[in-house]
Amino acid sequence: MKLDGRKFSVVGGGIGGLAAALALQQRGAIVTVLEQAPELAEVGAGLQISANGMVVLRALKVVGVVPEGGQLSHGTMVRDYRKGRIISQLSGPTAGPTYYYHRADLLNLLHQAALRAGVEVRLGARVKQVLKHPSEAEVILENGERLRSECVIAADGGRSQIRPILNGAETPKFTHQVAWRATIPWSQSQLSPRASLTMGPGRHVVTYPLRDQTLMNVVAIEERSDWQNEGWRLPGDPDELRTRFADFGGPVRDILAEVSETHIWALFLRPVAQTWQNGRLALLGDAAHPTLPFMAQGACLALEDAWVLIRSFEEQSGVAQALEAYETRRRPRATQVVAAAGANARNFHLRGPMRLGAQMALMAIGSRLARKYEWIYSYDATA
Ligand SMILES: Cc1cc2nc3c(=O)[nH]c(=O)nc-3n(C[C@H](O)[C@H](O)[C@H](O)COP(=O)(O)OP(=O)(O)OC[C@H]3O[C@@H](n4cnc5c(N)ncnc54)[C@H](O)[C@@H]3O)c2cc1C
Repeated sequence: MKLDGRKFSVVGGGIGGLAAALALQQRGAIVTVLEQAPELAEVGAGLQISANGMVVLRALKVVGVVPEGGQLSHGTMVRDYRKGRIISQLSGPTAGPTYYYHRADLLNLLHQAALRAGVEVRLGARVKQVLKHPSEAEVILENGERLRSECVIAADGGRSQIRPILNGAETPKFTHQVAWRATIPWSQSQLSPRASLTMGPGRHVVTYPLRDQTLMNVVAIEERSDWQNEGWRLPGDPDELRTRFADFGGPVRDILAEVSETHIWALFLRPVAQTWQNGRLALLGDAAHPTLPFMAQGACLALEDAWVLIRSFEEQSGVAQALEAYETRRRPRATQVVAAAGANARNFHLRGPMRLGAQMALMAIGSRLARKYEWIYSYDATA
């Protein structure tokens, strides 16, 4: 179907929502993004965008061949927690390079590209309901305003308010994992520009450079049951972070010593949605398939979704057929990637003899192990 002049509403101005809005508008649709936040600002945090996400950013012309704002990955050093001993050096995927982005920078690139294309981005616009009419969908905002369009795309994140309209109420499951994140100034003496994954019993720490190696992104994950707040913006206590990782030696100890501000949140598990669409309303990104961060694929999947969605519109004769095609194409891929991330949570936190065994395997076949996930990175939604 031709998208020229057709109206779409997108709920959520995150990575998935802005990418979908941009893709639709580039094909002639008239798109309004409704974002609850008063401004598109992000607290400091990094994102790894692997080749499967980068192809979509390039196809949408958000970035060029040499991607603006991204820091090229040089692979990952896997370390043991005690003294930071290097166990293995994983090279990047053969599918193409990964880039590290400050989340605020990637969001800004998408936002600016959407505005240039003519997308209307309405901030402070919280959606509370979406209704399905015979040939339209209607969004109701918290302030009572109503907005009709041909189709609504709900990209309102892992704690989606719109998902229950299609799937009913669901109870998320606490994973007994808690994540800390921080950014610190990069000190050249600290480490090579490679990312680092330091694994200890029940805990791991990931670090990588951001913004032309001026900042270091730090994510520390621990198994614990006494913190169950899912909010993304809750400040944590840097001293408590250091105490909880006090037995980590080597570079991690020096890195944590420099943390002056940190955020903490609990990781919850929600399954891939049973129902993604109803012919007028479709879920996209984390709203459809929330994932644990252990494959660093949530944003990449949301970008893939956006491209497959517009491809489905182009190929199908009507909105309902397009949304059905979109769900059929995306569900198996998203389910597989989400499962891989869940499995990694266990691999990173092994204890005792299992941990030693895994370390020996990594030493012996580290480079081959990196290829295990090529199926994720070599996927090209734009092909
Ligand atoms: C620690 C951590 C590290 C990660 N690292 C990576 C990584 O390296 N690589 C990667 O690919 N992914 C990573 N992810 C995952 C990635 O951040 C998410 O998968 C991605 O942001 C999902 O995009 P989204 O657009 O679906 O949702 P979000 O980015 O969550 O955006 C949703 C938007 O909807 C808005 N909203 C919510 N409700 C409403 C409403 N009712 N009305 C209007 N607006 C609303 C929100 O304000 C928000 O702006 C990581 C996640 C975590 C937690």
